[in-house]
Amino acid sequence: MSDSQTIPHPVAAERFIANQERAHWHDQTLWFVRSKRDRAAASLPEWERLRETASQIKQHTLSRLADYLTEFEQNAKRNGAVVHWARNATEHNKIVLSILQRHGARKVVKSKSMLTEECHLNPFLTANRMDVVDTDLGEWIVQLREEPPSHIVMPAIHTKREEIGQLFHEKIGTDAGATDPNYLARAARLHLRKKFLEADVGITGVNFAIAETGGFVVCTNEGNADLGTSLPKVHIACMGIEKLIPRAEHLPVFLRLLARSATGQPITAYSTHFRGPRAPGCETHIVIVDSGRSEILASEDFRRSLNCIRCGACMNTCPVYRRSGGHSYQAVVPGPIGSILAPSYDASMHSTLPFACSLCGSCTEVCPVKIDLHLQLYNWREKIASRGLLPKSKMLGMWFASRVLRTPWLYRLSGRLARFALPNLPRFLLYNPLNAWGRQRELPEAPRESFRQQFARRKKRKRQSDRDTTS
Ligand code: SF4
Repeated sequence: MSDSQTIPHPVAAERFIANQERAHWHDQTLWFVRSKRDRAAASLPEWERLRETASQIKQHTLSRLADYLTEFEQNAKRNGAVVHWARNATEHNKIVLSILQRHGARKVVKSKSMLTEECHLNPFLTANRMDVVDTDLGEWIVQLREEPPSHIVMPAIHTKREEIGQLFHEKIGTDAGATDPNYLARAARLHLRKKFLEADVGITGVNFAIAETGGFVVCTNEGNADLGTSLPKVHIACMGIEKLIPRAEHLPVFLRLLARSATGQPITAYSTHFRGPRAPGCETHIVIVDSGRSEILASEDFRRSLNCIRCGACMNTCPVYRRSGGHSYQAVVPGPIGSILAPSYDASMHSTLPFACSLCGSCTEVCPVKIDLHLQLYNWREKIASRGLLPKSKMLGMWFASRVLRTPWLYRLSGRLARFALPNLPRFLLYNPLNAWGRQRELPEAPRESFRQQFARRKKRKRQSDRDTTS
């Protein structure tokens, strides 16, 4: 799950917000999606009941995950699929490569799968002389730009249409200066259509795997997973162990929540059910990956993060994500859920992520499977501090703040000094590199009196007025 880069989140975020106009545009774009989600949720009177049901189904599944995985494997085999188990990303990639090599494959089409991003499958296959094309439009754009997705549902949300027009002009020869979304989407479709026709193997992710039937469901809005699995004879589906749900009757609960939470649609345009090979001579392989999930499952504090159905709603609502961009997280999954998952894999590399949060709790409010995201982030902060992973400057600041807050006379003195300094000191002494808070905003106006002084004064006035009334 970890990325090789280790730039702290505040540093990466600062680079993103250096372009104020882009940061504002990114914020507004994501807020638009969040507002659509709100309208879609409000249109269902049973929305909260659906969330609660989904949460309980997920928690029940996780409590008996080993049983459901076994049941799924048996039923998938009965359906004619080949089931593979991978302990980690290396095993996952080797399994996929061995299937491709056994079929003499060279050309691969792949629909969106965060698991394959996590396993760095594309660079691995490319290094082994495979031609891999991401067929989700957003994924294809970031593949052409040679960068990771910045959002789990809208991978190229950080990219403006002018940039996409320029990219397509350079890579596939569209008209220079073209920015019309319909024209660009048509050009992409024509280009990708050839890739589908030439592909030897199609790879997809899995949104939901059903233990009872051994089948699985892939949700897309573009139908690219369907084309990628209907034309080649071999289909490889890659899934984490947490994608299980017990029974087919549970599926509608999640399908109703997923699209509404992700984009505000009532349902994804294509929710395709796969059971096994679609025709004689075809093959379906399912690669089930652990890669650190068992450890998260064993952790009481963070187990519920495995409920995640990757809808992206927590990113769309997060004030930090919206203003700092997905790439600033330096993790495969960004945003609130990514800031919980990434430290689970490598706390020292991702120690700044749980602090990329205002603890406003908006993520917890929108999460369709009721993950207590902000509480888990708070929990991670405590763990990071207790493991000594905070930077020295922050430790020093926290030590100083705790001394002040624990010592009443020091607290009163600090307040008095601040009330004097804020209106009287020259601006350059207040707004300098040491005051990170003041870089983006003005300091609040200092009150003339402290709260205690105001309280004492009002109490005295009240006593006086009581005396006057009784005399
Ligand atoms: S944590 Fe919740 S809101 Fe965030 S992506 Fe996962 S399911 Fe969606």
